[in-house]
Amino acid sequence: MNETGLSEEEIRSILSDSKGKDLKYERVLSSMCTYPHKIAVQAHMQFIESNMGDFGLFRGTYNLEKEILGSLGDLLHKADAVGYMTTGGTESNIQAIRSMRNLFLQSPEYQKSVNSNKKTHNKCSRPNLVVPDSAHFSFDKVSDILDVELRKASLDDELKVSVESVKSLIDENTIGLVAIAGSTEFGQVDPIKELSDIAVEKNIFLHVDAAFGGFVLPFMKTSCEFDFDFKLPGVTSIAIDPHKMGLSTIPAGVLLFRDSHQLESLKADTPYLTVSTQYTLTGTRSGAAVAATYAVMNYLGKEGYRKTVSRCMELTDYLLDKLAELDIHPLIKPVMNVVALEVPECDLVRSKLAKEFNWQVSITQNPHGLRLVIMPHVSFEMIDSFVADLKKVLNTL
Ligand SMILES: *Cc1c(COP(=O)(O)O)cnc(C)c1O
Repeated sequence: MNETGLSEEEIRSILSDSKGKDLKYERVLSSMCTYPHKIAVQAHMQFIESNMGDFGLFRGTYNLEKEILGSLGDLLHKADAVGYMTTGGTESNIQAIRSMRNLFLQSPEYQKSVNSNKKTHNKCSRPNLVVPDSAHFSFDKVSDILDVELRKASLDDELKVSVESVKSLIDENTIGLVAIAGSTEFGQVDPIKELSDIAVEKNIFLHVDAAFGGFVLPFMKTSCEFDFDFKLPGVTSIAIDPHKMGLSTIPAGVLLFRDSHQLESLKADTPYLTVSTQYTLTGTRSGAAVAATYAVMNYLGKEGYRKTVSRCMELTDYLLDKLAELDIHPLIKPVMNVVALEVPECDLVRSKLAKEFNWQVSITQNPHGLRLVIMPHVSFEMIDSFVADLKKVLNTL
């Protein structure tokens, strides 16, 4: 830091240089984020100083958060679901599993086993969590932070989790299951109805990671094919991200619990704030993102999101048709606007697309493929030009 400050003009010039080095979303086919809606940006600016970490000072923003939770609870078939606005899918996943773990450790069964193990001097086994092999990497963080063993269940041919594999991994130290509604790599939806049945039968928690798919599935024409939310009795929590397909500003995630005792298990005392308890992972928390989310959800309504999703799916179909002409095919039939392509030498193709044509795409690990996310900033022209460049790259292999 300099002793004396720079002028506004100097700062603006540095910032616009830096902004110039950021990629424009018009060349990005790898991200699950996009330009926020302009009504969200305006709301964000209007509430820029609002701190939800001390929401007694920001009652108006707090009310907006309550409205958002009510609307999303309603959308996900549990109008009285409880929760809060997180910084995104990662925090939602951490907190959902933390709640499972806390309640598991407090359970009479676990306490009894600890006491009997003390007598026999056996080491207590670690709690474990069963997740699909396709789970987002945030669950590796979950495992590390919460000291929970991660058991990864295998996937079937369509890259959905195998229900048999999930069953085989459950034991008396399993704190719960995770299902994915819109996997990060493939946009696939797990057989959540079956997993819900298992969760009910075994009386364990089931967290649904709908960070991406939560703002897609309810607005798809074929949404009835995919039950993924609180409609299923075994689903105990859901992560859904307004800062992805919800078109809100970053950082906007939402975590919802079926039952208030799950949220209560996250309670911390906050003696010197205007409110005496907190359930959040972070302390200071963006009220701007809350206002932005409220604004865009209420501005667009279900109809607006249906239009957005429908356009993204039209673009996805258009892309697939264009690629089929080049004899390039998806690894699975896309369920939503995430496409994984069977392409030779994916890593080389990816780097050539970036270096020679300034396109950002990503890759999937297993099976290896070229991954594209068709977000609302994508246009038909963008797809035409991308496919032409991909063709050029493939011809040089
Ligand atoms: C994006 C994503 C996450 C992580 O969300 P962040 O907002 O980046 O923390 C978690 N799970 C899934 C399925 C995702 O797509």
